[in-house]
Amino acid sequence: MKITLSAYAGFCEGVERAYDIVEKIAKDPLVKRPIFVLGSLVHNDDVVQRIEDMGVRKVHVEGPLEEFFEKIKGEVGTLVITAHGIGPKIYELAKKYEVDLVDTTCPRVIKVQRLAKAFFDRNTQIVIIGERNHKEVKGIYEWANKQAIFIETDEDLCGFDVDPKKKLAVISQTTQDQEFVDRAAAQISKKYPHAQVVDSICLTTHHRQTEIKQLAKENDVVIAIGSPESANSTRLWEIAQRVNPSSYFIQRAADLENAWFLDCKSVAVTAGASTPKWIIDEVINRLETL
Ligand code: SF4
Repeated sequence: MKITLSAYAGFCEGVERAYDIVEKIAKDPLVKRPIFVLGSLVHNDDVVQRIEDMGVRKVHVEGPLEEFFEKIKGEVGTLVITAHGIGPKIYELAKKYEVDLVDTTCPRVIKVQRLAKAFFDRNTQIVIIGERNHKEVKGIYEWANKQAIFIETDEDLCGFDVDPKKKLAVISQTTQDQEFVDRAAAQISKKYPHAQVVDSICLTTHHRQTEIKQLAKENDVVIAIGSPESANSTRLWEIAQRVNPSSYFIQRAADLENAWFLDCKSVAVTAGASTPKWIIDEVINRLETL
């Protein structure tokens, strides 16, 4: 059985950067303790466990950010913002409550946050193509002063209606499905020709999605590795499945099932931006034994 590994499988630059920063501060005695990460640094349980083993724990924000800071007052030395980013309020609150911040927001996400703020400042109706409950999108929404409309599905697109006299800008989650964003942007531009559309899908995501379509065509089976919580991993699997129904989504090597490979001569392996190399290696090793 021929095994082809995606050229883009695994940690993207943004996740790699965030992980390196956390590894570095965990070893730095000058960094104020205890260190907490705001949620999962990446959507992958194994990576989260490794980070906890370094002494960096995960903390969740439930409810308003002010209440969270009130609750952790005096108990947190350093707070790490993940690569997904967060709304602007955290910076003033961290100062007020004397918590040190380590910001690992991916520069590509920062770009979209800044765009959201700039459009809001110019009195523009903002449209975000993305999942409203995704961490990155929630942050971008806050940078837009919570004044954006979400497009998540084709149904949202059908019912999309705004004041035609108002300036209109369209931005997207960095890991959105390129086909959906193109379709949504085209439809909005047709109805509102004055709309300013910014394709804010990150290049890494774009390359991965383009490549997986090709790999799914050329191979009998596709294996996508990632956590179900990871938007970009799930998306890779969905795209592969549209082209090749023998596409499977797994979290680790133990999830592979022999029955998937009965008449299989070629398998393509891809992995989301939050999947570490050690998990990809395990999957490849297991496939080689089949
Ligand atoms: S997927 Fe793109 S935007 Fe998201 S962390 Fe990775 S490089 Fe940054």
